[in-house]
Amino acid sequence: MNQDLNGIGLTSQRVRNRLVEQLRGMGIVSETVLELVRTIPRHLFVDEALASRAYENTALPIGYGQTISQPYIVAAMTELLLSTGPLGRVLEIGSGCGYQTALLSRLAGTVYSIERIAGLANRLPERLQGLGIHNVHVAHGDGRDGWLAHAPFDAILVAAAAPDVPAPLLDQLAAGGRMVMPVGPPGEQTLMLWRRTLEGYMEETIQRVSFVPLVEGVS
Ligand code: SAH
Repeated sequence: MNQDLNGIGLTSQRVRNRLVEQLRGMGIVSETVLELVRTIPRHLFVDEALASRAYENTALPIGYGQTISQPYIVAAMTELLLSTGPLGRVLEIGSGCGYQTALLSRLAGTVYSIERIAGLANRLPERLQGLGIHNVHVAHGDGRDGWLAHAPFDAILVAAAAPDVPAPLLDQLAAGGRMVMPVGPPGEQTLMLWRRTLEGYMEETIQRVSFVPLVEGVS
């Protein structure tokens, strides 16, 4: 592994271990997820100028007015999907810089990821391939429609908040599939978990969160 991947100074293994212990203290229990946080180089997903802050438990700007989600919430959503069933086919809405995508790719058979901002979507395939990740398909589009051609999905993760759940997303869940998404207006968002059963959907409230909005159309 080269120095970039391993990190030095504020991106070193020691600093990453500190983040892992922080997440453990906040209630993340999956050793699988914690190991991914420890090994996936978050500093390579942010601007070089922000690399020294990549292992702080905070959201950071990634351009276009968007942010890389806080490590805790990435870990919490991943753990939720991992602990509730299989992750064969996973749909992610809001790829952003691709850090969450990278975590999912290590757990899933295949990840389908949709991002509405072309500048973010276009640079993702190369970044992921550079990390040896080859099971992700990225699309530039409005994720509120889901990705019908590859449905049904075992899991859907939405990384942006809306007042209501887009119906196509629930429709594209497989039986036994789970979806996690922040719902509600700014300042009052709640992370929700849905499970599709043979009879319908079960809905569960997880925790208060703060996400950027799920925006209509592409840019
Ligand atoms: N997990 C990402 C989160 C980025 S923030 C990361 O850690 O980098 C949420 C992302 O959702 C932004 O990149 C935003 O452009 C994208 N987004 C918002 N609305 C969308 C939509 N309708 N379809 C697809 N992506 C959307």
